[in-house]
Amino acid sequence: MLGRMPNWFMALRLNGRKLAEEVEKRLQHEILVGLAKVDRPPGLAVLRVGDDPASGVYVANKEKACARIGVRSFGTHLPSGTTIDELLSKIHSLNKDENIDGILLQLPLPNKMEEGPLLAAIDPEKDADGLHTLNLGRLLKGEKGPRSCTPAGVMALLSRYQIPIEGKKAVVVGRSILVGQPMALMLQAANATVTIAHSRTRDLSGLTKEADLLIVAAGQPRMIRTEHVRPGAVVVDVGIHRLPCENPSNQIKGKLCGDVLAEEVEPLVSALTPVPGGVGPMTVAMLLVNTVSRWQQHCGLSFTLGDLLP
Ligand code: NDP
Repeated sequence: MLGRMPNWFMALRLNGRKLAEEVEKRLQHEILVGLAKVDRPPGLAVLRVGDDPASGVYVANKEKACARIGVRSFGTHLPSGTTIDELLSKIHSLNKDENIDGILLQLPLPNKMEEGPLLAAIDPEKDADGLHTLNLGRLLKGEKGPRSCTPAGVMALLSRYQIPIEGKKAVVVGRSILVGQPMALMLQAANATVTIAHSRTRDLSGLTKEADLLIVAAGQPRMIRTEHVRPGAVVVDVGIHRLPCENPSNQIKGKLCGDVLAEEVEPLVSALTPVPGGVGPMTVAMLLVNTVSRWQQHCGLSFTLGDLLP
């Protein structure tokens, strides 16, 4: 898979939409099997604060995904003026609710509200996003637990397409707690040799050109171009941005793009994730995997999803 490829080689598109559908089917089946033994379905509580429109769309997508596979969603939408104490008390009541297996705090929060204490208040055993300090520590130590959804989705996609990781040089662009850092840990656990790049990295293209496997989560639209990529590399584009529309008067939304200039890079690489339809759907699928696996654990059912949690 990796190595120099002739110019006419068309990159393999790592289809996250298709894999997310396969994962959903499998989860739907696991829920039906479990419901023969226990009397309640898995439950996910999505806590949204304020009226950020993008968050509204993300929350609606997550709730639709829950409905498709038989997870009960307990949406809670609080006004932007909600205090930290009110939110903490809401989180504590969700922690105690026996019908809820996963809790997710939709970010960003309004009014520069600090997310740290709220994420820390979520019961780590109900941490659907895998972002609790204990669960990040479990990832670091190679212990089982909920995993950060986006990097776990990337690992599932690489595994599905049998992209070799062991012994490969991986470069992760971005060091956020949400994506870059857990991504690097997961690749390292899969025996890649991993380098993390960030905004202070010197000679970024010199570094990324070394990569057999390049994961880009920089939040910079179309920044990765041919000069950053080694021919034949596998490139995973985590970024998601909406470009301004060409004619604002016709009210059609601008196109989505990633952190990679796909038109330029695609003819050069051996595999690439499209945007949209690559990492995005896998993030939602892994949220469901975390929730259903927590349900299996809370209800004393057999744990059957270990292969999807890196
Ligand atoms: P953050 O803004 O939290 O982190 C961005 C990281 O990229 C930082 O570590 C920053 O470095 C680094 N960076 C920024 N500019 C450059 C540059 N020019 N060169 C090298 N490194 C750079 O973003 P997130 O990690 O939260 O998200 C990254 C992208 O992924 C965004 O586009 C986001 O929308 C998308 N995303 C997509 C998801 C999906 O489901 N598809 C889910 C989550 C995120 P430094 O630390 O030095 O500031």
